[in-house]
Amino acid sequence: MIRHSVLPKTATAVRARVVFPVAAPPIFDGVIHIEGGKVVQVSAKPPAGVPLTDLGDVALLPGMVNAHTHLDLSDRKKRLGKPGMNMSDWVRLVVAERTTPKKKLAAVTNGEMQSIRHGVTTLADIATYDPFDMPTNECGPRSLRFHEVIGFSQARAPSAHSGLVKKLKRSKAEGAPQLDGTSMEGIAPHAPYTVSPPLLRNLVNTAAEWNVPVAFHLAESKEELDFLTTGAGGFQEILEQRSMWDPWAVPRGSVPLDYLRILTRAPKALVVHGNYLERKELSFLARHRDSMSLVYCPRTHNFFGHDPYPLEVAIQLGVRVALGTDSLASNPDLSVLNEMRIAAARHPRVPAEAILEMGTLGAAHAMGLGHLVGALSAGRYADMTAVPIPDGVPDAHNEILMAILGDTAPPCQTWLGGETVDVE
Ligand SMILES: [Zn+2]
Repeated sequence: MIRHSVLPKTATAVRARVVFPVAAPPIFDGVIHIEGGKVVQVSAKPPAGVPLTDLGDVALLPGMVNAHTHLDLSDRKKRLGKPGMNMSDWVRLVVAERTTPKKKLAAVTNGEMQSIRHGVTTLADIATYDPFDMPTNECGPRSLRFHEVIGFSQARAPSAHSGLVKKLKRSKAEGAPQLDGTSMEGIAPHAPYTVSPPLLRNLVNTAAEWNVPVAFHLAESKEELDFLTTGAGGFQEILEQRSMWDPWAVPRGSVPLDYLRILTRAPKALVVHGNYLERKELSFLARHRDSMSLVYCPRTHNFFGHDPYPLEVAIQLGVRVALGTDSLASNPDLSVLNEMRIAAARHPRVPAEAILEMGTLGAAHAMGLGHLVGALSAGRYADMTAVPIPDGVPDAHNEILMAILGDTAPPCQTWLGGETVDVE
């Protein structure tokens, strides 16, 4: 279980060798002053009359933010299928894997505990379960739950949409989960091969009406692009076998940009994966960066052996990029820090600071929570994680950050709203 070991409702302060606030330059011998679960001030000077804990030779970072996961698969001991396999064959394995509602909820709780252990304090989960059935876990990460919607054929679209609206209405009637007045629910139309453009349009309109974010898997595989162009291939076969196929649901010759255009109407849109987005599509995302973000899942990308990820181009163009772990069906753990490490190794031209932002403030902004979490600054939640600094690194913040990203050590301590959380 996860438990709080300290309950500092009163003022407290922690000092570290270096603090990376993310929204401001790093501070050596930095001190975070915390009160009522939120950051009061970040500076090099301890506040007078406030008990101070010195953490020593660590880097203090904002709690990690995971912009994409499927926690209902967190009971898995190893990944599903084989590296480099076809996406549609892998999807078949995932579909066969789905279990009972009770097991799903247990897996979600398990995934929340694993996340906290990896220093993840906020996450975006794709929920195939009913969030109302989740046991209260006040010490778990701040979870934004995206209700997954699937309904490819025109015949199924109305019931898929009304089912989603029913969930939102129930949330409202029974007290929707919120963080300082911001909804912790979202809508997840699954992907172009399970949600048709008209259904996506309706779901995005609903998201605008309810002011909730949308997460959509897009341009994940070449197979998906072929499906959009021709209406054939492995995904078509799955839909046919599951009696969901509708030859007229997607116009032939469709491309990811058609879907991006629909997503512009969402208050926030997380474009998950985008492994095969073209330059003009990345430019489109950059132009809409206030509301649209690209979610890069480095180790899942690696598992499927996709073409190199267009991270440098995306960043150059000004796309807001967030990191996600995806699920344990394609990734060995739920650590955003480890995603940062793989991203840093694979994209050495991307600055370490940009990579840190992708797994903290960038992800928080993507989810519409950037004003509350993702950075250490006055008024935001004191969600933090301490990471050991490898031996012999000089006092230069970029070298420290690069050393941490080149290391393998997990976070040594994590705080949620200023309280340390221990996972047993
Ligand atoms: Zn996913």
